[in-house]
Amino acid sequence: MKHVVIVGGGFAGLNCAKKLAKHPDVRVTLIDKNNYQQFQPLLYQVAGAALSPSNIAFNLRSILKDHPDVDIKMSQVVSVDLNTRTVHTAEGLAYQGDFLVLAAGSQADFFGTPGADRHSYPLYSLRDAEAIRSRVLAVLECADRDSSLIAKGALNFVIVGGGPTGTEMAGAFGDVFHHGVKKAFADLNLVGGEVVLVDGGQTVLKAFSPRAQAYATKTLEQRGVKLRLGTHVKEVHQGHVVLSDGTTIPTHTVIWAGGLKAASLSDNVGVKTGHGGRLDVQPDLTVLGFPNVYALGDFANIVGKDGSHLPQLASVAEQSGKWCAKNILADIAGRPREPFDYFDKGIMAMIGRNSAVAEVGQHRHELQGAVAFAAWLGVHAALLSTTRAKVEAFLEWAWDYFGRSRGDAILDRNEQKDIDWNDDGEASMATAGPNQDIKTS
Ligand SMILES: Cc1cc2nc3c(=O)[nH]c(=O)nc-3n(C[C@H](O)[C@H](O)[C@H](O)COP(=O)(O)OP(=O)(O)OC[C@H]3O[C@@H](n4cnc5c(N)ncnc54)[C@H](O)[C@@H]3O)c2cc1C
Repeated sequence: MKHVVIVGGGFAGLNCAKKLAKHPDVRVTLIDKNNYQQFQPLLYQVAGAALSPSNIAFNLRSILKDHPDVDIKMSQVVSVDLNTRTVHTAEGLAYQGDFLVLAAGSQADFFGTPGADRHSYPLYSLRDAEAIRSRVLAVLECADRDSSLIAKGALNFVIVGGGPTGTEMAGAFGDVFHHGVKKAFADLNLVGGEVVLVDGGQTVLKAFSPRAQAYATKTLEQRGVKLRLGTHVKEVHQGHVVLSDGTTIPTHTVIWAGGLKAASLSDNVGVKTGHGGRLDVQPDLTVLGFPNVYALGDFANIVGKDGSHLPQLASVAEQSGKWCAKNILADIAGRPREPFDYFDKGIMAMIGRNSAVAEVGQHRHELQGAVAFAAWLGVHAALLSTTRAKVEAFLEWAWDYFGRSRGDAILDRNEQKDIDWNDDGEASMATAGPNQDIKTS
């Protein structure tokens, strides 16, 4: 029986494990630092209190309960020996396989922006989303209690990066402040606050068509989101951000959607990594020089049909996971491996209530507005791992849509209440920041 060791139980690793598990001659060890799969595309809905964590995180043992040949180990892999296909964990254990699959995903890339790693909130894990939700609720409660804090930026929310994640987050905040917050905090003067989306490019949603970009821009502006395009965030402090044009915005909530790189494990695999710290792979998804080692999803640079790298998307991760399993099974059966052939289903982004953009299929058929909104909800619910999760997500969305109330506005991360309203700048770097106990990816 061949043994396959998989690192990472996300879209890529899990799909690889599920496909291999059907084969009687293969046993799998799936290692993940968490005991759940997190559904990243819906993280921003947890951050915006539209969904609860249990709607978007799924226990790995439950998902794989019908596959006795998959052994799950909850552990952080700290280093990898590609030559022997062995991984070493934080507890000092080692797992060796006939095949090794590396699918450890991404983490935030702050591009060396001073203060960003300590004072901004990335949005790449469940913990990140819960921290954002608690911080947003905390500043609202503080400003409600003491309106003088509004001048110190209590109600300013700065989102860095105008890609799908930043745009979705900005649209959600626009909706929340126009509806939910107004209703829940009747005494709060929201006029003193703003949602600002900062991006160094000249448009939001760079990967989409100009029509979709124009629609997204208009929709965000209608929701009161201020766009600061062609501008970089230069520094992030505990109480303000400094932009490249010299502007200073007082704020205690900076959300970082400004870029990503491979999970930190890629520093300890013993080979030179490529763009974004990811492992460059061959067309068959193996790492050059290591025929029985595969790298997948967000952890790999996978070349597409046009010669450029495929984007970091759930569909790329999911398909590469299944393809890798197919190649491993071909190897075991003595058949040749096949080059990965990505089937592009298109891209979509939610911009807020009743507003989304979608470019469907390889020919990029464009949808906008309520139709795209409905398509977005359908596609994302369908991707959720269990029937129960799909039903619960739809119930929460319906409650939010018709009742205009946030189902899960719970401030449960107490450390996010500790805001030093007088502390600012470099001197504050040593005090508690959002990422003090948060490790992404
Ligand atoms: C906020 C956000 C929104 C997104 N929206 C969309 C969207 O709408 N549509 C879309 O297609 N894509 C979207 N994506 C991208 C998509 O979620 C990723 O491309 C996809 O999750 C990648 O899958 P993966 O399996 O490669 O990595 P992940 O899903 O990140 O899984 C990696 C796994 O590895 C584990 N791990 C990491 N390091 C270690 C270690 N050292 N030891 C053990 N385990 C480890 C992690 O715990 C995790 O479970 C979004 C991403 C984000 C962050």
